[in-house]
Amino acid sequence: MKCKVCRQDAVISLRAYNSALCARDFISFLENRVLKTINGYRLIDSNDRLLVAVSGGKDSLSLWYILNRLGYHADGMYIHLGIEGYSDLSLEKVKKMSDMIKRPVYIFHLKDAMGKGIDMISKKIKRTTCSACGMIKRYIMNRACLDKGYNVMVTGHNLDDEASALLGNFLYWKEEYLWKKGVELKEEEGHLSKKIKPLFLCSEREMAAYAILSGIDYIHDECPFSVGAKSLLYKEILNRIEDESPGTKLQFLKGYLKFTRRLKLEKTQREMKYCNLCGYPTAGEKCNFCRIMEKHGISGGIGFEEYKYGDLLNS
Ligand code: SF4
Ligand code: ZN
Repeated sequence: MKCKVCRQDAVISLRAYNSALCARDFISFLENRVLKTINGYRLIDSNDRLLVAVSGGKDSLSLWYILNRLGYHADGMYIHLGIEGYSDLSLEKVKKMSDMIKRPVYIFHLKDAMGKGIDMISKKIKRTTCSACGMIKRYIMNRACLDKGYNVMVTGHNLDDEASALLGNFLYWKEEYLWKKGVELKEEEGHLSKKIKPLFLCSEREMAAYAILSGIDYIHDECPFSVGAKSLLYKEILNRIEDESPGTKLQFLKGYLKFTRRLKLEKTQREMKYCNLCGYPTAGEKCNFCRIMEKHGISGGIGFEEYKYGDLLNS
């Protein structure tokens, strides 16, 4: 197998693009793809201030690294969920990347702020761990953006994440989520940061190859709570389809975005209210986060530790 660009030995075949590339050309292919996504979907404006939600995994760390390589000044934010044997290690990887690209990262320690890790909090509020985690992460990320003066939250969702979420929303006709699903969610000044997903056309396999070929040190283990998640089943099924018909996942997602744009399907406009405790957008008087935390007597301030790159190197 030869590289389609330089005819040297290829290290990866890209069947969706009917191509194969060597390491060097694959790295520029992928970075170029991210740049094209950003420009093509107008994800970033010149005066945007970017905060990347990093988990220590291959996608978010690569994204943070790529954005800075492409010339964007993007800082990081990490939520330490207090998961034994997982959170400390992933934070270490995040700090390593911070040192490598010389960008600071804001760290939110769930246990310090709320006295418990995510497993205990989810039990207390009677939700599954992932549902509690998702709600808390969305809230804290938004708070980090607003409190620290950023207007864009960047996440590392890749093609497989987005396609499997879309499939799940279709299977159960989760209308509200279907129309909300996009590559960009609008900001509401003072209340919500804009959210963008520049990796949504890059597959999981491509991101893993990019991270390895670029020497990015990431946490290989999945979060222990992801075992048995439906999204993993959907990914497996989509991969089987992709094997038979390369390019299907891309078509699925791109077609969906085109479709929603053409029909101008907007989520039904409700009169937007804001939480009277914290200002987060909500349909009621209090946002989900404040309501649940108050109901279950979980309190604590929202504060962030700022890790200035170089601390690891200096210690
Ligand atoms: Fe949170 Fe679940 Fe993801 Fe783990 S798998 S990080 S608990 S959402
Ligand atoms: Zn609130």
